[in-house]
Amino acid sequence: MSENIEKVKCLIIGSGPAGYTAAIYASRANMFPVLYQGTQPGGQLTTTNDVENFPGYPDGITGPEMMIELQKQAERFGTDVRNGWITKVDFSGDVHKVWVNDEKEIHCDTVIISTGASAKYLGLESEQKYLKLGGGVSACAVCDGFFYRNQEVIIVGAGDSAAEEAHYLSKLCTKVTMLVRRDQFRASKIMEARVRNTENIEILFNTETDEVLGDGQVVTGVRVKNNVTGETSKIPATGFFVAIGHKPNTDIFKDYLDLDETGYIINVPGTAKTNVEGVFVSGDAADHVYRQAVTAAGTGCMAALDAERYLAAKESVVEV
Ligand code: NDP
Repeated sequence: MSENIEKVKCLIIGSGPAGYTAAIYASRANMFPVLYQGTQPGGQLTTTNDVENFPGYPDGITGPEMMIELQKQAERFGTDVRNGWITKVDFSGDVHKVWVNDEKEIHCDTVIISTGASAKYLGLESEQKYLKLGGGVSACAVCDGFFYRNQEVIIVGAGDSAAEEAHYLSKLCTKVTMLVRRDQFRASKIMEARVRNTENIEILFNTETDEVLGDGQVVTGVRVKNNVTGETSKIPATGFFVAIGHKPNTDIFKDYLDLDETGYIINVPGTAKTNVEGVFVSGDAADHVYRQAVTAAGTGCMAALDAERYLAAKESVVEV
């Protein structure tokens, strides 16, 4: 083996709640984990303001602060947290090979994938501006809806996520305007019916977002365009929710791991195991249903325990 190749017992890819929780458990189990943070240290939660639904924080905590605390907790038990982006893997042999920034090669006994998923956004400059300011743009109604209670909000999208989130918001907000770009939903019939039957949800078909309007700090409304008539109009709102899908960050694994049609890694039900022995998955990279910090943390714990058991079973075979 070349001197440049590092050998690692447990490599964790990703630095959201799943990755850090896996790191806390793996380091406490003497697996000497090395964690690569990726290009967005802290993951999706760093794009959220206050997290009020993670147990143990009665006064809430900001997403970035929470991620710093999780990193500190993982480092306290010896996790080696590093900057770097995993660009390539090779899971074809007994030793799992991983490359960092296309240069450094690491050979791993176990790999825990916690690369998460990225919410899709429209890409409008005004949308990105208020997203970065934390001023009223969100891609997670369950995380942020509470901040808009008794207010009017807008949601973009027509799939199951948009329907579910519109319904969730309708219980908190006085009015939810749903912007659907075609003349029909993509959501399942039952979800569509639920939205249509909710009094304070107004659905605007053939409607696209032209611009997110604001006062420079917070969102005050949206200018929309009817893509059939070309007519534009302004809708007042304090919250702008985007629910047009997520993209799991799993492209580099597709040659080795079983993925579903959208790219989520398929785990063995009830475990964090993938179809490759010694490779485990946690968090949103395998979860298109719950997508919560606390569920990601839970599956991070599962991945570390599964990895520990895998190593213990392998070592006991060698001893015999
Ligand atoms: P989907 O890909 O199913 O839907 C995305 C929606 O966003 C579509 O309606 C699409 O419009 C719209 N959209 C995409 N880009 C734009 C854009 N630029 N401007 C405006 N609208 C846009 O994603 P979901 O996240 O809703 O669902 C993902 C998967 O998860 C699905 O399989 C779904 O069934 C599942 N799911 C299941 C749930 C449940 O069973 N409880 C809950 C949530 C998700 P168009 O239709 O025109 O393409």
